[in-house]
Amino acid sequence: MPGSLRIAIVGGGIGGLTAALALRARGLDVTVFEQAEILREIGAGVSIHPNAARLLRRVGLEDQLQKIGSPIAGITLRNSQGEPITTPEGPAAPAFSGGDQGYNVHRASFVNLLFDALPKETVTLGHRCIQLKETDGRIRLSFANGASAEADVVIGADGIRSIVQREIGLESRPTSEGIMAYRGLIPAERLPWASDLSDPALWLGAGRSFLLYPVARGQLINMVAFVPTDTDSEESWSAPGDLDALASEYAGWDKPVQDTINALDETFRWGIYDRAPLPYWSTGRITLMGDAAHPMVPHVGQGAGQSIEDGFTLAVLLEGCAAGEVADRLKLYEAIRRERTSKVQALARAAGKLYRSEHDDPSEKAARLREWMAQGKWVFEHDAEKAAADALANLHR
Ligand SMILES: Cc1cc2nc3c(=O)[nH]c(=O)nc-3n(C[C@H](O)[C@H](O)[C@H](O)COP(=O)(O)OP(=O)(O)OC[C@H]3O[C@@H](n4cnc5c(N)ncnc54)[C@H](O)[C@@H]3O)c2cc1C
Repeated sequence: MPGSLRIAIVGGGIGGLTAALALRARGLDVTVFEQAEILREIGAGVSIHPNAARLLRRVGLEDQLQKIGSPIAGITLRNSQGEPITTPEGPAAPAFSGGDQGYNVHRASFVNLLFDALPKETVTLGHRCIQLKETDGRIRLSFANGASAEADVVIGADGIRSIVQREIGLESRPTSEGIMAYRGLIPAERLPWASDLSDPALWLGAGRSFLLYPVARGQLINMVAFVPTDTDSEESWSAPGDLDALASEYAGWDKPVQDTINALDETFRWGIYDRAPLPYWSTGRITLMGDAAHPMVPHVGQGAGQSIEDGFTLAVLLEGCAAGEVADRLKLYEAIRRERTSKVQALARAAGKLYRSEHDDPSEKAARLREWMAQGKWVFEHDAEKAAADALANLHR
């Protein structure tokens, strides 16, 4: 594409791959550099709520999403003994709003779907970025394998241990939330009652919670079990966990909770960490997105969704942008996205506190959750492309 900006994305996770799709859809020249030799994902589910699903639809992924996803409606709440939690206003299972359908998907299927939707030459595997140097308006990327590349714009989509973040002079330190999660996937046929599990089901008990939702069109059940911890669990999504320790955390809980744990072949430990917002995301022609820019605790399932919004925002702002305008456009991107992602980060923190809180009356917790979901409408209804287009129009006014 002669004359167009050359954009390099460091990191081919959910954020980097969707950004590449969004940028390409607007005719931009983009290459993703991913450190892994082959794209691998752990066995886990991830939520693509309406705010993200509506964007993916616009780049033609509707059919594929439907094929791999389990539609998300509301959430069913129970106490640790399995009694449904209701509030005076009715069952505490409000539907996620947003007008569009969201999906729970298996991470590996989702990443493969994104990868397959891109031309092969767009993603360069086996390239771990180790250095960025900005000279004469261009950025030189160096990789651990000795290769190098040049770009007009670099987007760091390289996750919580971002090299791009470091290269623009930032450092972010994780602080433990005092909890960890056990995760796992169970073939649905091992849990006969799971065929009724269309919505996510959340059991709430003292200081801990247990979440199940179907993925892969109901063929697999995804489990996330949040428990308190006073040790620093590894901040990893794939560290092996101990099934006996998991079982003892939920001794005496509702039978489906115990059946699920007994049906697991393996579990992963996930230390939940929070990070303070970064003071800035961009310098000149380099910026950050996704977990590299705004990692968040997982309690509203928006980690993936916010990274998808970032990519589509960047695509709107960089379309038709001249080389001399890049720095200003990245500043605008940062202004739009920092405001929204900071609010989502705060909501996720508050939701985590609510799940863990020890209300004597579980329906009090449910009432707060209902209230929170009603307030959270702004998360699901947001249209990131429209917000970016409006901000751009204001800039030119
Ligand atoms: C297994 C797993 C489960 C998760 N579950 C949930 C969940 O339940 N709820 C939730 O809200 N969030 C969850 N998250 C987080 C969520 O997926 C992310 O917030 C979201 O996908 C955005 O991630 P990202 O693309 O910014 O970063 P990542 O998904 O971390 O991707 C970063 C990519 O960059 C690559 N990379 C890193 N360094 C370099 C380098 N120097 N050079 C080149 N490539 C590099 C990595 O290999 C990786 O592919 C999960 C993440 C993982 C990995």
